[in-house]
Amino acid sequence: MAKMLARLEDKERRRKPSDDELLSRAEFLSDKYLGGRAVPSSVRWASNQGRRWGSCTLLDGSIRISTRVQGMPGWVLDYVLLHELAHLLHAGHGPTFWKILEAYPKTERARGFLEGASYAQDDVGAPTSDEED
Ligand SMILES: [Zn+2]
Repeated sequence: MAKMLARLEDKERRRKPSDDELLSRAEFLSDKYLGGRAVPSSVRWASNQGRRWGSCTLLDGSIRISTRVQGMPGWVLDYVLLHELAHLLHAGHGPTFWKILEAYPKTERARGFLEGASYAQDDVGAPTSDEED
């Protein structure tokens, strides 16, 4: 286990894991924080996510993570992955959804980080969006 964690930390340091590594990271996070209940069929980087940090397709369980997340700290990437994994269990952003994400201790911190990043990356005057996916 310690060996596996060390390996994950190495990957985290590189911060641009491959699609395969994204999938194993998502599986690791699902096991650790969601009791393994969320089982993605695929996880990959996508450059066409618009303002969203990630998205998922409930029909086939696939998850896409915006390439804008590349270069962000590992704990932020973990949050984005967990956010989409949680959507495989619960659609929408109601209290039940956020309850699921309480298992991850850095959820609030990561949301703040992404809000700031979103502000910094936005064009001045662009309408703000409360869409978080
Ligand atoms: Zn969402």
